[in-house]
Amino acid sequence: MSNSSSHVMSSMFPARITRLGELSYNLWWSWNHEAQSLFTMLDARLWERTHHNPVKFLRTLLPQRLQAAAQDQTFLRLYDKVLRDFDLYMQNGDKSWYTRTHPDLQNETIAYFSAEFGLHECLPIYSGGLGILSGDHCKEASDLALPFIGVGFLYPQGYFHQYISPDGWQTAAYPRLDLSSVPAIPARTPDGKEIIIHVELNGQVVHAKIWQIKVGRTTLLLMDTDVESNAPELRDLFGRLYGGDQRVRISQEIVLGIGGVRALRAMNINPTVWHMNEGHCAFLVLERAREMMQEGASFAEASEAIRADTVFTTHTPVAAGHDEFPFQLMDEYFFHFREQLGLDREEFLSLARHDQPWGPTFSMTILALRMSGRHNGVSKLHGEVSRKMWSFLWPEKPASETPISHITNGIHTPTWLAPELLQLYDRYLQPDWIERIDDPQTWAGIKEIPDELLWNTHQHLKRELLDFVRRGRQEEWSHRESSSSQILASGTLLDPDILTIGFARRFATYKRATLIFRDANRLKHILSNSERPVQIIFAGKAHPQDEGGKRLIQQIYGFAQDSGFAGRIVFVDNYDIALGRQLVQGVDVWLNNPRPPREASGTSGQKAALNGVLNLSILDGWWCEGYNGHNGWGFGEDREYPSEDAQDAADSTALYTLLEEEVVPLYYARNFSGYSHAWVAYMKEAICSAAPQFSTARMIKEYTTRLYVPAMLKKGWE
Ligand SMILES: *Cc1c(COP(=O)(O)O)cnc(C)c1O
Repeated sequence: MSNSSSHVMSSMFPARITRLGELSYNLWWSWNHEAQSLFTMLDARLWERTHHNPVKFLRTLLPQRLQAAAQDQTFLRLYDKVLRDFDLYMQNGDKSWYTRTHPDLQNETIAYFSAEFGLHECLPIYSGGLGILSGDHCKEASDLALPFIGVGFLYPQGYFHQYISPDGWQTAAYPRLDLSSVPAIPARTPDGKEIIIHVELNGQVVHAKIWQIKVGRTTLLLMDTDVESNAPELRDLFGRLYGGDQRVRISQEIVLGIGGVRALRAMNINPTVWHMNEGHCAFLVLERAREMMQEGASFAEASEAIRADTVFTTHTPVAAGHDEFPFQLMDEYFFHFREQLGLDREEFLSLARHDQPWGPTFSMTILALRMSGRHNGVSKLHGEVSRKMWSFLWPEKPASETPISHITNGIHTPTWLAPELLQLYDRYLQPDWIERIDDPQTWAGIKEIPDELLWNTHQHLKRELLDFVRRGRQEEWSHRESSSSQILASGTLLDPDILTIGFARRFATYKRATLIFRDANRLKHILSNSERPVQIIFAGKAHPQDEGGKRLIQQIYGFAQDSGFAGRIVFVDNYDIALGRQLVQGVDVWLNNPRPPREASGTSGQKAALNGVLNLSILDGWWCEGYNGHNGWGFGEDREYPSEDAQDAADSTALYTLLEEEVVPLYYARNFSGYSHAWVAYMKEAICSAAPQFSTARMIKEYTTRLYVPAMLKKGWE
């Protein structure tokens, strides 16, 4: 792969620090705190203002600052260390896990397709958990030195930026992504030409330019249809993530699946394993079948070959939530393609036919399940739910033997661990702990951290979070008049000595963001207790077309302005990776109360636990595996309720009781040194129990040994 990033911007820098540009173009910096410190040392305010985007940052930075830095011994020492670490990281792939364990499988390539990638806040091409998982997957694939390449879509307007109007209504803005100031560079052919691929879309030819993003040792390819050779309406069509009707979606998915295969071929990359992360990208199997048939295979032979090396991960535990298209749309968009597969209409549609109450549809999940040899859900419970949901596809097997396994999600530890805690872990764990994250033994040393030190470190992170919340709000006030109730809702009254609960997630209705308000008076009592008060910080985006989700935000905003809650409820707008990081590191308790079993896995609670933040969560998704009785709290009974309302009543009562009888008393059981010994014991248990098991280190090793390697070896499948 050609590499032009080292030339990008290099002329801007004094010779002594000329590699800053190169560093900014490899997202390795996003999980290396010292690399980030280099940027903050140059100009901390500008680093904030550019939303931690080093490319934009370096382009905006005054040249005098760079000149001064090139003379500054402190800066230069750190610069040299960071670049040494970066070089070591990039060169030492041969010492990493995959290379050591699979020396005979070095010439393979795993292509990982996903509709969204959540790598960092400066690349807003993700909406939620699915994207964050893909981003973390790439980073860990790099750490473990897998032969890996990601394939995705570049949405020039990305996912939206959320603003809340004074009356609590969510408005969406779509700032255009300026590709010249994000860490992306045009992909080039081996002989140096920019790569443009094309796909046919309903009679029109669409062009896509390929960008590449460097994620440590791995690369992510993104397809960009906002190019001049495309008609203006086409360029708009692809602007946003999940931002349109079914025509937009099918078009994006054709470019992702079919275009993605063509992008790889154009770069002369020939994967030996194909991983489809959720069904959005499943058209890739059709393109691969077409390729093989051009070489003379029959459709049946091609399908066999594709199944042998294709892996599919499903993420959706709700039947109605799966991606699907009406037959008529498939007729329009696949009329010619179908002919190239030698299939008639019935044969083609039956590849993915799903008979729904609203008529038969072409289900991307069914296409993916049928055309992949290995498939998994993303938690133990989600595996069970998926086996039941799709058992009709394997009528000869009992539901419990439906061949869908599970690999529980994890998080990329260096990305989500607070720098202050990283230092602490460095001190109390074995020096090479970061190489052995998934080994439970690694974490035994956590118990050695002095209680007071852990408590104080967490308090420091909490103050940083509260400052961050207040700073954001002050900026807003300077732009407009605020009423006293708005100021109440703004976090001015947040207090670092108060037990702080965080709730941040997409405002999909099943997440039940307002469950804790079901008995508003009981909640008021809990929050405004004069001796043992509690405060709650909310954040999250509703899908722009989800009016119900937006109403939930408005309700919470209303509660935040209600003086009865005494300023102890705050809604922080524009939940993204940056805010997510601050929240999971800074609150005391992480609340999650979805309607089970709709949380396929959830990962934000894993981030919280890694940072010693205690989960207070419905027993759903990963928490069914993670909860052990003394690392947080679980609630929600595994039973059928006569109605959703009855379930909400039972779950909210359980939540209040836990808060009143366990969480609050434990937190305020302060000793003479001002901290709660019992609370710290829970924090330590949370870290030790969750950090190894719910890491991407454990997860990627499972994907590799259970799915990728057997696919490389074309071993049999079910
Ligand atoms: C981790 C994360 C998510 C996913 O977490 P859930 O537990 O699934 O809600 C979503 N958005 C952001 C910004 C995150 O950091």
